[in-house]
Amino acid sequence: MEVDDLMSNAEISGVAWTATRGRVRLGMLITLVVASAWVFGSWLVAESLCLERTSRMLEREQDAASSAAISLGANIGFTLAHMRNIPKILARQPEIETILSSMGPDVQRSNLALPRFRKMLAKDTRLSHVSKRLETMAAELGVDQIWIMNAAGDCVASGGFPLATTATGVNYLDREYFWMAKREGVGRQFAVGRTTNTPGIFYSAAVVVGNRFLGVIAVKIDTVQFSRLINDRNAFITDENGVVITATDTGLLMKTVPGARVSRLTESERESRYKRREFAMLAVDSLDLDGFRLLRLEGHSTPMLMAFSGNQADNLKIWVFREVTELWRIRQEGLWPFLILLLVGALLIASVGAGINYLRRGKDHQAEIARVNAELIKLNDELRVQARFDSMTGCSNRRHFLEELGNELKRSSRFGFSCCLAVLDIDHFKEVNDQYGHATGDILLKHFVQTVGKCLRSSDLLGRLGGEEFALLMPQTALAGAFELAERIRVAVESAVAMSGQIEIRFTVSIGVEQWWGGDDSVETFVARADDAMYEAKRGGRNQVYAESPSNNLSLFPEI
Ligand code: GH3
Ligand code: MG
Ligand code: MG
Repeated sequence: MEVDDLMSNAEISGVAWTATRGRVRLGMLITLVVASAWVFGSWLVAESLCLERTSRMLEREQDAASSAAISLGANIGFTLAHMRNIPKILARQPEIETILSSMGPDVQRSNLALPRFRKMLAKDTRLSHVSKRLETMAAELGVDQIWIMNAAGDCVASGGFPLATTATGVNYLDREYFWMAKREGVGRQFAVGRTTNTPGIFYSAAVVVGNRFLGVIAVKIDTVQFSRLINDRNAFITDENGVVITATDTGLLMKTVPGARVSRLTESERESRYKRREFAMLAVDSLDLDGFRLLRLEGHSTPMLMAFSGNQADNLKIWVFREVTELWRIRQEGLWPFLILLLVGALLIASVGAGINYLRRGKDHQAEIARVNAELIKLNDELRVQARFDSMTGCSNRRHFLEELGNELKRSSRFGFSCCLAVLDIDHFKEVNDQYGHATGDILLKHFVQTVGKCLRSSDLLGRLGGEEFALLMPQTALAGAFELAERIRVAVESAVAMSGQIEIRFTVSIGVEQWWGGDDSVETFVARADDAMYEAKRGGRNQVYAESPSNNLSLFPEI
């Protein structure tokens, strides 16, 4: 192979290698892009699934919180509506009307000190009797306290009197429920009890006889009662000023919701109603989780949803908070679709990659098979040549030559052609071998074939019968022509000089020529006769051509 060929082969394989590397890089790039797109897509799908589940769950939770707030509101509203009517009914009790009538509409506020006033009231047997009645009624009606105030606001009788915590003797003129009742007939208010110190809702009704305002009867329901109704640590009730008045979690009591109206009350108003001036605000943080608005209530780490319902009649608001515990579970479970999609993607990419690789390898294998096939065809051709020709000299080998001779004899027989055969044997060849070595002998053999080849016609065929013995087939040739050609060959060999390095070797050849007799003259007999003729030439002194004189039957095969 030439250097240029090697170079171009190297260049081609370099180009092929670069192309393969480029293909691998492109494949990797495409895989990377597809994989990234898949990861992103999977994340989007998983995220949207997670968001959908979250929003459905939040909707559900919000509905649950709203209905809890509504049903709580309805329960409390129902209970309060019942309580609200109690003072109205009691205000029409004759016994109460009689007592207050005896004091009259213009009664003056007592200027006695509370203990003395209470002592004085205690002496009044009618009042004591009423107080007892009020106590029994309170127990029967399920309220915490019932008391009666005269037109000047002094409490003259109360259930439980003479206990120190009872209202008897205290003036309630400043209480909202008092003047509301005086002005509108009925009143209500949330406040911290002045004597009991417990927060509660106060309902009141005016005692009016013949258009004369004689006083007020009031009942109080401790807000503690409502906490039993609520029975939910995450729910509470605020009054119209936004103050938590009822909660199962007592830590929330008396705190205010953000923006509560209580901050706009005067200090004395706050003191009078709530028995305090400062209010801590309920810590409610707003959270934004994946676009969902949630809350975090103080003392809770879990995000919450909030719903509320209002109680119009009592200006109360029922707040229900609900922990959204499922949020984290949905988030965690949201990982699964993502992981599954990733796995599916990895399997898909791996299978597609394997498929492409398989197809590419299939193509490479086909190319390899085509290349091997081409090599085999070439090898076959070479073998065919080797099977026909003598590898050293390049002329036909014995087998091929005899085959061709057989074919030619058949052709000559069919068409009636003349055909001649010469056997050529190099003279004293053994001496060349002995003198210069076997390799030089080989050079001589090649040189001999080249020299003879130059004398031949295209139709002639030279074959090596073995060793230094050759045969020449001369189709469509009569003996005279064959003899002439043999003689030309002999002269050419004699005059040629074979070179082995610096050594010049001259040699001669003995040739026997025979003409085919036709008919039964087979390849073997024909060759044997030509061989005999060659030996005749040897015997005749070598370096000569021997041919028997033509017999009569030669005229059957004219030379063309
Ligand atoms: P003659 O004139 O009687 O033909 O004598 P010769 O020496 O040519 O004949 P002989 O038969 O005595 O010797 C032939 C020699 O040719 C013997 C053998 O070693 C040699 N020979 C046969 N084949 C080859 C070959 O392929 N290469 C070489 N170098 N020598 C060969
Ligand atoms: Mg010889
Ligand atoms: Mg010989």
